[in-house]
Amino acid sequence: MSDKDVTEVLPPDAEGIAQAARILGAGGLVAIPTETVYGLAARADSAEAVAKIYAAKGRPDFNPLIVHVRDLDQAKQIARFDDRATDLAERFWPGPLTLVLPLLDGAKVAGAVTAGLPTIALRQPSHRVMRAVLEQTGVPLAAPSANVSEDISPTRPEHVLASFGDAAPPVLDGGQSQKGLESTIVALREDGSWSLLRPGPVTKETLERLLGGERQVADAGIEAPGQLTRHYSPGKPLRLSATEVAPDEFFIGFGDVTGDCNLSEAGDLNEAAARLYDCLHRGAASDKPRIAVAPIPYGEVGRAINDRLRRASAGAG
Ligand code: AMP
Ligand code: MG
Repeated sequence: MSDKDVTEVLPPDAEGIAQAARILGAGGLVAIPTETVYGLAARADSAEAVAKIYAAKGRPDFNPLIVHVRDLDQAKQIARFDDRATDLAERFWPGPLTLVLPLLDGAKVAGAVTAGLPTIALRQPSHRVMRAVLEQTGVPLAAPSANVSEDISPTRPEHVLASFGDAAPPVLDGGQSQKGLESTIVALREDGSWSLLRPGPVTKETLERLLGGERQVADAGIEAPGQLTRHYSPGKPLRLSATEVAPDEFFIGFGDVTGDCNLSEAGDLNEAAARLYDCLHRGAASDKPRIAVAPIPYGEVGRAINDRLRRASAGAG
């Protein structure tokens, strides 16, 4: 049997982690669990390795990647950290907050990672397995979500395998991603302003408390080229804020509004975030030609859930 007949699912033990680090060190791709979603990782200092990410995902090359670091020291070799950046990193790292900061001259990062922007997106993830891989590989890892571009993000190894099919990279099995939504992305600019580029598990309210009011800039579209409306698509029409279900719909419930898949019977938004993509994957795989989702409140992480649902519904059809 050739290597490509069966995609390797690596166990999250010392041997699996060492094998992942070897593949990455040699410039290959590995899908790795993080607390947000599974990432398709490559060493960020190699143009050839990073090119494989864009090719595997079919990702437009103007959409820059998040670089995952071992710790704040490693991050400071890549980007300029002002006091706000250091404070946020110290509070939230390791964790689901990505900082977009000025790229340092001479930083050892392939140009394709930033898609030519003068800024770079950095995060120190908290998942034990990803941390061990970063430690052993010794270099920062570029890692967008481990799915074909515009598919729903993966929160379990099966989702990675389903998205890439026969072309799936080796996957390190880290179980279900605990947060289940992509990281919050905040840009800190040198003029002292900031903006939320992507809502996520670290909420806007929390950031406003620490940074003061957000200031959007007129060219935010260029600053965050990945924030295309069409994204995270289940490949079927998706109806939002549905209180009743049509016979041809797979229904994703929340709280008392029960469905084929319930995001959280207790009405807990954190649990709903963790389960969102799994329910969307199930809806995508079901016989029903459409998906409907119950109303989700906007408080706290609800903003990020609604953001992803809006994008998923825009991408459908
Ligand atoms: P993904 O890796 O698929 O979770 O997406 C990464 C997100 O980070 C995309 O939406 C990018 O647009 C965003 N991003 C990465 N680097 C930058 C940057 N330098 N400036 C603004 N946004 C960025
Ligand atoms: Mg993605």
